[in-house]
Amino acid sequence: MAQLSSSPPSDFIREIIDEHLRTNRFQGRVATRFPPEPNGYLHIGHAKSVCLNFGIAAQYGGTCNLRMDDTDPAGESQEYVDSIIRDVKWLGFDWEDRLYYASDYYEQLYQFAMQLIRMGKAYVCSLSANEIREYRGTLTEPGKESPYRNRFMEENLDLFERMRAGEFKEGTHVLRAKIDMASPNITMRDPIMFRIRYEPHYRTGNKWVIYPMYDFAHCLSDSIEKITHSICTLEFENNRPLYDWFLDELKVEYHPQQIEFARLNLSYTVLSKRRLIELVENGNVSGWDDPRMPALAGMRRRGYTPEAILNFCERIGVAKNDSLIDLALLEHCVREDLNIKAPRVMAVLRPLRVVIDNYPEGQVEEFDCPYHPQNPEMGSRKVPFSPILFIEQEAFMEHPPEKFYRLAPGKEVRLRYGYFIKCVNVVKDPNTGEVTEVHCTYDPETRSGFAPDGRKVDATIHWVSAKHSLSAEVRLYDRLFSVADPMEGGSDFTEYLNSKSLEIIRECRVEPSLANAGPGSRLQFERTGYFCVDPVDSSGKALVFNRTTTLRDSWAKISEKEKR
Ligand code: ATP
Ligand code: MG
Repeated sequence: MAQLSSSPPSDFIREIIDEHLRTNRFQGRVATRFPPEPNGYLHIGHAKSVCLNFGIAAQYGGTCNLRMDDTDPAGESQEYVDSIIRDVKWLGFDWEDRLYYASDYYEQLYQFAMQLIRMGKAYVCSLSANEIREYRGTLTEPGKESPYRNRFMEENLDLFERMRAGEFKEGTHVLRAKIDMASPNITMRDPIMFRIRYEPHYRTGNKWVIYPMYDFAHCLSDSIEKITHSICTLEFENNRPLYDWFLDELKVEYHPQQIEFARLNLSYTVLSKRRLIELVENGNVSGWDDPRMPALAGMRRRGYTPEAILNFCERIGVAKNDSLIDLALLEHCVREDLNIKAPRVMAVLRPLRVVIDNYPEGQVEEFDCPYHPQNPEMGSRKVPFSPILFIEQEAFMEHPPEKFYRLAPGKEVRLRYGYFIKCVNVVKDPNTGEVTEVHCTYDPETRSGFAPDGRKVDATIHWVSAKHSLSAEVRLYDRLFSVADPMEGGSDFTEYLNSKSLEIIRECRVEPSLANAGPGSRLQFERTGYFCVDPVDSSGKALVFNRTTTLRDSWAKISEKEKR
């Protein structure tokens, strides 16, 4: 099971459940569900809902179902179902044998509709879609009753059966609930329950040519599954009276309590399947699993851990008012988790050659380097050292400003896990003047990382042995959008895509121990960031690493400021 804390902080939803338990509203039962529509991959917003529904079920010893709310043949597919199953499992949640599909309830929903027709509470309306819209009225004006509203029950039954039998064209008839065209809540103005669609469904094929509307199917699916608490996002608040109307009129045995909470909005990204599909289809990203995507598939490929996502969801909590959560908080949670879990290794992204002039030619030493400075249980590996190394280009400056602590002519630094080296000379490209090689001497007395005479150095730099290191491609990711709220302003959100969200560096050099790192392995490249082996493109012959996150933690700074 997922690693949610056993006693999460309480919130208004848990308070409502506590109250229901006290008053025995549901005979002590707690039954929730996570009900995605399989028309896209899950994103981090869905993770909030997954954690909430499964978390509550676990905390109260109840159950949580996974239900595909698949009532619309357009855009739904088995690929999406498979991705949803994979992602919820990856987060660590278990629905046991309770995987359900709204499409399995079509017959039951049809029978419920027939029942409402017989009760005089539903009618077949033959207005066009445009006319229905016009008749609906506005927020300030009541709607107008459809001329078909008072059809006899027998006629409605006959027409609805013939709708099902495929006798009518799309758009010619719909089934509507007979509620109140003057209701201040527009949702209650005779909403549509069933419509004709000749599109095949990914599960039911051509069996059905009428499909239930989401509002009709959703509340009854919850009732069929004996859900006690139908937890959903705030935009469904206006639909609650309608759900209650269907459930009350049909006198169902199980009438769930709907509770709405604020959806997750995250800065520098968009959390809407429709918009994310647009990015995939436009080719703005390489797919749903592009590591810049807020989709769980993308986050997994980027190296985020399920534990970090769960921790993030718990920290943001649930509330009744919308807010924009800082992406830096999510990154903070990822760093916090990887700091504990990721083995440390050395990799040089932009290599500069260093030659140690006084090191015996042909000699190779092996340094035993711990994988984690604070956790000896993670063990160690051997890192070869030889007279020709690579260090980062940015670790050297020929004419350093004051306060440049790394390598420079005449300066001494420590090699991580190794000797002190001192720069004695540089070789330059005669045409460009660029430094191509740095010559150093090493002090054999400093193997322990300290000088016996007590002299100090200002910096420790990471390195790899030129001969032994492996070539790798490294992909550096940054936020997908360049503004905090790409939806603000209402213009085309793709205009705010960050053109620098992906930088690919080839010819990086990594220590030889990484030859065996499996797909998806997460590592810290010392002094550089957290990385993972790309599970799609990396192979033993051509290593590819994704940067999960940098080491710098802007969230720590933000929260520090807030405390002051
Ligand atoms: P989108 O707005 O991207 O189309 P959706 O809400 O239509 O998403 P569903 O598949 O219906 O997507 O979502 C399944 C569940 O996840 C619903 O209960 C929904 O309320 C919840 N959910 C979706 N987005 C968020 C979010 N940003 N924060 C929290 N919960 C969310
Ligand atoms: Mg939805």
